[in-house]
Order: sequence, then structure tokens, then C-alpha cells
Amino acid sequence: MSPALNDHASTLASLARQPRLALLIDLDGTLIPFAPTLEQAILTDDVAGRLRILTELGVQVIVISGRPRNHIDPLRRQVPGAWWFAEHASWRHDGSAWSGPARVNDPRALDGIAAQLGDLAGKFAGARVERKSLSCALHWRQVPPVARAAMTAAADVAIEEWLETHPDHERLEGVEMVEVRPRACHKGVAVAWARERLPDTHFLALGDDLTDEDMFRSLSDRDLAIAVGRPDRLSHARVYVADVPSAHQLLDWLAAVRGLHADQLPPIEDIDAGARETKRAPFVVIANRMPSARPVDRQRQVGGLVAALEPVLEKRGGVWLGWSGEVAEREPTLVVDATSRPARACFDFPAAWQEHFYGGLCNRAIWPLFHGFPGRVRYSDEDWVAYVDANATFARLAGELAAPDATIWVHDYQLLLTGAAMRHRAHTGPIGLFLHIPFPTAELFETFPWAGELLRAMLAYDLVGFHTQRYANNFIDALERVLGVDARDGTAHAAGRATRIAAMPIGIEPAAFRPDPTRPTSPEVDGLCAMLEDRKLVLGVDRLDYSKGVPERLAAFEHLLDRHPEWRRRVTFVQVSVPSRSDVPEYAELRQQVEYLVGHINGRFGDADWLPVRYLYRSYTHDVLSQLYRAADVALVTPLRDGMNLVAKEFVAAQDPERPGALVLSRFAGAAETLRSAVLTNPFHAEGMADDLHRALSMSEAERRERHAQMLAEVERETSHDWADRFLTTLRAQAREDAAHG
Ligand code: UDP
Repeated sequence: MSPALNDHASTLASLARQPRLALLIDLDGTLIPFAPTLEQAILTDDVAGRLRILTELGVQVIVISGRPRNHIDPLRRQVPGAWWFAEHASWRHDGSAWSGPARVNDPRALDGIAAQLGDLAGKFAGARVERKSLSCALHWRQVPPVARAAMTAAADVAIEEWLETHPDHERLEGVEMVEVRPRACHKGVAVAWARERLPDTHFLALGDDLTDEDMFRSLSDRDLAIAVGRPDRLSHARVYVADVPSAHQLLDWLAAVRGLHADQLPPIEDIDAGARETKRAPFVVIANRMPSARPVDRQRQVGGLVAALEPVLEKRGGVWLGWSGEVAEREPTLVVDATSRPARACFDFPAAWQEHFYGGLCNRAIWPLFHGFPGRVRYSDEDWVAYVDANATFARLAGELAAPDATIWVHDYQLLLTGAAMRHRAHTGPIGLFLHIPFPTAELFETFPWAGELLRAMLAYDLVGFHTQRYANNFIDALERVLGVDARDGTAHAAGRATRIAAMPIGIEPAAFRPDPTRPTSPEVDGLCAMLEDRKLVLGVDRLDYSKGVPERLAAFEHLLDRHPEWRRRVTFVQVSVPSRSDVPEYAELRQQVEYLVGHINGRFGDADWLPVRYLYRSYTHDVLSQLYRAADVALVTPLRDGMNLVAKEFVAAQDPERPGALVLSRFAGAAETLRSAVLTNPFHAEGMADDLHRALSMSEAERRERHAQMLAEVERETSHDWADRFLTTLRAQAREDAAHG
């Protein structure tokens, strides 16, 4: 007998005995075995009889099916007293009549995709399009296996393109089918509807495919979800029964439990032949923010991180865990989307975290302190409590998702305590942390009121990675000073564990920024180039953050026009500032300051036909950005302090090696440790920066070529994929070594 379902037998039995119990059950693949056609897949009277018995025993049976209403109508007579949902949750029947969804999308919206899938089905024998009132499905159960890959690939393209213009719809994978439906119609809606009508009722849910995950994840802690057939995805159901006959046996068992005295438990052996815990992830990436589910949006996101991790996650069957970006007043619970690439698991933040965790300890304390702006730091005990709570929650949710021996890769300053919280929860697999921002000097770090707690927690990681050796050394100094732990050889030993400390700079995928002549050029970049005429283009691209030194950069540009008047009318400075944390007052002030300076310079030097500064408060896709980089004569990448700065590397990758632009790079960006051939500048010294800009603008083509070749070699030597590989290899080696010595 498998232990798992048996372990759950007492939970199941106490659920089964609840006076108020509802059974939420899917039809196809759960109650009815799959058949070649829907017409052949029938609800036998034997199975309907089981549902009738449960109804007589006081269980509210709720059948939640993806089938259209006309398929459900004949079944309703077989189980009087049951409630029915058709097309997932689009239509419901509570015994008296069908009623529709509260908000209905225009069903004609689907005509376009239905026609395209219909054309496709016409080309593949056995394929069938099913048009429901609010959705549209393509079935390929009858398509010969050799033709399936070609058909599904074509369907994927058609659906992906259609969804671009229909964001209120989504795609849904079924068993040998794919469906396009309104986002608002899913089985979770049925659960919410049932919950409203059945207060104080426990729910037991059974289902076999992805559509049932919406039902599973809408359950509360006192309910139970059971998957039918072992899911090859991550499931919100923790246990499963092997197949449809096992599900039938489970219904018999439930009826037996309800019919017997509380101290009698009928045997469960017959049904648990295949029952085990459902799958857990072998690899989890934890980062505060999620990559977007849509490839087009992903292009704009978090630099090289998503690009670097996507292939590793896919190869290793991993999941990305992070914040959904939404706030909700309930206990954080995971929503897993195992079909997206990469697989994603996210949760909503409680409202207080927005202010105290994210806005508070992360961005009012750690961010300014670690970037070396102690004057901007604000400490509050309430913020620290929220930080501890958030980190513990990330750890709890990661524990639900990950196998106990899974590899966990935690990212960045928001989650410094997560590894320790996972160890408290008895996670045994390797856990690594990569810090994407600088680590400050020990003198500065010591001013953090919880310095000891933070460092001790960081030593629960097997590996802590930094962009530069300087940050790693600062961390080693802090360990010595605050905890008295000696890690000068690159390994810290504390509390029976060894933590490796290493510098491993993140890279980019240079190919993604290389000019691609097959792609159309952006009209905006074309327009900019035409407007420039023969003027030189100086480019700045950053998130609007005080660490990026944009006011200082503008001051340097003003000095250039003052000290080197020959550049007036001969140069235009384009500054792209990506909106960032705009709800935080300091960031709003920064925006005003930058806008004031831009107006001031333009007012002072501009003519009717020449604006010295063009300020763009927006973001661009990587495709447009690489064209902008290529159009620029000089990139001004002058943060006051930056963990790495990917823009510098992207600019280098995007240049034409024969006629490259010049890079003016802050000495205080992590990128300056490898891009030594840039014109290195001190962003705190506006006049010096103006001279460095003048030097870059005046540089001969031969010198630019030579410097660019050296920098390009660096950018190509260490790509984001190499970085991810190196981190994971080092992490595993360290964990193995620690296990051998532990
Ligand atoms: N970025 C973008 N569109 C924009 C401006 C920036 O996609 O309009 C990207 C840019 O390509 C880079 C990232 O944002 O990959 C910024 O990363 P960086 O390390 O320079 O700074 P961070 O914002 O992480 O501090």
C-alpha cells in the first residue's frame, strides 16, 4: 500500500464526515474515461448512481465541466439534486435553470481565432474545432501522432498572435486539446459561486487536467484537492489517485465513510494503488518580481536575468517563484502556472508589505545603504518585521513548491533571509543567493540596525554570489567585523555550515543586441536620426533612480556646453528614463529635478531648430533600444553606484565594430571592473565628467575601434548563460562538499 493516500486517509475521512460537504467534480478524465469522441464518452448509470448515493448522504454534488450546455442537459436527469457547470464556469445550473456569467465578452470576438483553427483543422485529418458559446477548442485526439507536432506548432503561433490583440482571453492546455477562452471564465469562479451559497461547507475537489487547477487553487486550507491520474505538471493538489476507476472507488469509499460510525474507517487499500504525493519542483528560482507570462512583455524586463534563467529553468523543470505585482487582503497563497515558459508560481502581497517590506525595508533602507547613500536611509522596526515576515512567507511558499532536496536560487536584496527561513523548514537541498546590487563597506554596513541578524541568515546559503570581487570583499570584511567570522579564503564557516563567497559578474546575451538587418527599423529611431542631421548623439538609458546619477550627468552636459562651446549645435543628448517606483515620494522629486534641469539647459542653450537635451520618460523594447545604442556616438553610463549596469554591456554589443561609438562609464558601476577600455569617469565630479565626454566625442575612429574590440571581447567572454551555469555549478559543488564534510 502506498503511504501517501493512506497518510491522507484520516484527513479525508474527517472531511468525508463533515455534516456540510460539497463534492466538486470534473467530468471528462475524472468521472468519465476519455473516448475518441465526446458522444462516446458517456456517464454510465453505474457512475451516476455513485453521485446519487452521495447526494442522498447529504453531499452537495457539483459537476464542473468544460463541456457545452447541450452535452450536460441529458446528464442532469441522471443525478437529481446536483448542480452543474458548463464551459468551465461560464454557465451554471442549480437544479432549476441555466444562468450565464455576470460579465460576458462578446462571443463574436472569437470568430477570428475559430476561423483560423478551423482552417488548420481542415488540413489535418482527425482534428476538430469545438466552438462553445464563449470559447473555442481544438482537439487532436484523432490526429495521427506523426502529424501532431506540426499541427500544434501552427496552432501555437495562431493562438499566440491572436492573444496579442485579445488580452482578456487566455489559452488553456487540455488533454490532447487546446482551448481559447475568456480569462474571467474558469473553474475557480465556480468554487467562489458555490462557496457563497454553501457557507460553513467543506469542499472536496477532484479533477484531472489543467482547467481543474483553477478549481484546486481556489480551495481553502480546510478543503482538499485530489488529482486524477498522476499529473506531469506541478499541481495545487497534493495527492492523486491513479485513474478514473480509482476515482470511482474513492467515491464509494466516501459513501462508506459517511454511512459508518465515526470510529470505523473503511479500508482504503483498493483505491490507493497509484496514489502518491504529486510532483514537486527540482529547481526553484525565487525573485521578488516575476518574468511576464507574455514573450512580448518579457523583452522589456529585468535585463539579462530572465534571459539567463529561462533556459536553465526549462532544462531542469524548474519554476520561478515571485510576487504577482498585486495586493490582496488574504493569506498569501500560490498560484502555479506550469504551462508558461518558464513555469511560474506567484502570490499576492498583503497590503502592509507594499509599504513596510517593499517600499520600506527594501527600498528605504537596504537599497540606499547598499548603494552608499546613508543620508537617504530610513529605518523602522515595523519595516524590519515586515521584511522578516515576507522572507518567511517566500520560504513557506517555496517549500510548498519545491522537493525537499531541490536546488533553490534566491535573487537579490529583498530576500536575504529566505535561505535561512527555508533551512528552518528543513530544506536539505542546495540554496544559493545572488546579490544584484553592491555590498557596502563594513563601516557603512554596520549602521544597519539588524546587521548581525542579516549576516547570520546569509550564512545559511551554500553560496553567496556578487558581481565584483570588491563587493565580495566588503561582505567578508563585514562578517569579520560584525560576527567575528573569518572568511578571507572565500569560505565562511558558521553554525555547522560552510558558505562559499564568490564574485561572478552577470553578463548579457550579446546576440540579442547585435543589429539584425532582417528586422524593420523603428520609425522612432529613423525619425531621431533624420532630426539629428550631422549632429552627434549622446545617449543615456536608465531607470529613473537616484543611484543612476542623472542630475549629475545633466550638470556635466551643461559644463560641456560651457567649457567646450564648439559642441553647441553639434551634439544632442537623448536621455531615456524608465519610470521606476514612481509612487515613492523621493522618486517623484527626482523626476521633477530632472525635468527642471532639462528645461534649464534647453532654455539656456537651445535654438528654434536645436534642442540640446531630449528627455524621454518611457521604456523601449530591446529591439528598439539596440537601434538607439547603435545610432549613438557616445553612451553616457554614469551611475553614482551600480551593482553591474547592463546598459553599458548592451551598448558595446550593439555597436558596428567598424564604426563603434564610445562608452563613458562610471568608475562606480560593477561593469567598470571588466570594461576597462571604456572612458572611465567620476560621476561625482561634473566638470571632470564634462571633460571625459569631450574626450569621447573627439576620439579618433581608430581609438574607438581598438577600445570597442577589447570591450566586446569581455562582453562576449561572459554571457548571461555562462553566468547562470557558473553559479549553479559552484552552488552544487559547494553543497556536495559541505555534505561530505558535514
Ligand atoms: N531597458 C529596457 N528598456 C528601456 C530601458 C532599459 O528594456 O527603455 C533595460 C535595459 O536593456 C537593461 C535594463 O533595462 O537590460 C537595465 O538594467 P541595468 O543593469 O542597466 O540597470 P537596473 O535597472 O537593473 O538598475
